[in-house]
Amino acid sequence: MSESVVASDGAGTAVGSEAAAGSEGAASSEGAVGSEAAIRDAAARIAALGESSPRPAPDPVNLPMIRHWVQAMGDTNPVYTDAGVAPPAMTQVWTMRGLRPAGREDPGDPLGLMSAALDEAGFTSVVATNSEQEYYRYLRLGEQVTVRSSLEQVTGPKRTALGEGWFVTTRSTWYVGTEAVASMMFRILKFRPLAPPVPSAPQDPPVAAADVLRPVVSPDTAFFWEGTARHELRIQRCGGCGTLRHPPGPMCAVCGFARPEYDVAAGTGEVYSYVVHRHPPVPGRRLPIVIALVQLIEGVRMVGELLDIDPERVHIGLPVRVAFDEVDAELTLPAWREDRR
Ligand code: ZN
Repeated sequence: MSESVVASDGAGTAVGSEAAAGSEGAASSEGAVGSEAAIRDAAARIAALGESSPRPAPDPVNLPMIRHWVQAMGDTNPVYTDAGVAPPAMTQVWTMRGLRPAGREDPGDPLGLMSAALDEAGFTSVVATNSEQEYYRYLRLGEQVTVRSSLEQVTGPKRTALGEGWFVTTRSTWYVGTEAVASMMFRILKFRPLAPPVPSAPQDPPVAAADVLRPVVSPDTAFFWEGTARHELRIQRCGGCGTLRHPPGPMCAVCGFARPEYDVAAGTGEVYSYVVHRHPPVPGRRLPIVIALVQLIEGVRMVGELLDIDPERVHIGLPVRVAFDEVDAELTLPAWREDRR
């Protein structure tokens, strides 16, 4: 959970972005103080409500959800699927609201109430900063879980790299009946987003080689970049069993041999998957760009930019051929072009 972005929006960006920023000017500082007082009032009022009423999990603790979860997490401990014990880290899963909780808004949710108060004051963006969970006992199949939340703390205004904001800390406790089984401290930053960067000018300023993002060249990957400089697309090959692998690494996953060699690829393949990247801006690139995962005829896959193509034309299975983008004397990037053969 920690440091994951829960949501972020660009609403209310420019309007009043200076107003509450602690200016000494009479008019704006009055506004800031007013908004600060309103936030502190809201926080005190919501905290005084104490724990929200219990919100039940939609389903009792059940094996299908446990099985999906341990598979997704790669947790192979058999106790979770054989003995009817739920993974403690799954606690929050039982009471998730779902992707489209339409009509089931929780009017007593303290985080929702505090967020609304901060939205009102212009702190419209949100990022989760940290959380801590404690587990009091294991949950077992068939148990019906409820969750109750309270507002623990609201601190601010703080200046952060994202913009000025308030840290909101809530505590959620999960119960079976009246017995507390787990709890979580959850903290978010509600912030007033900084003004967005000036959009790129319509005349498309020239792209400077100095802006291009550079790969980190390590002893494991140096052969690859030496190859691109010579317009060779090199694939690492295990010096023991001969298995091809990409991206390069120090050791073969098949046989464990640690002295890799390489083959030079034919340089042809097809689009295995792709994205059309339109935002945010990428240093040294004019958007949109197409980034493709290319399936090489040798069997490995590589990520690269697909050049000189209308994004509408790109599709999975599109035949492509390698191209070499000579950024400058030090860097040649592999890229791809449609292979019209
Ligand atoms: Zn090997």
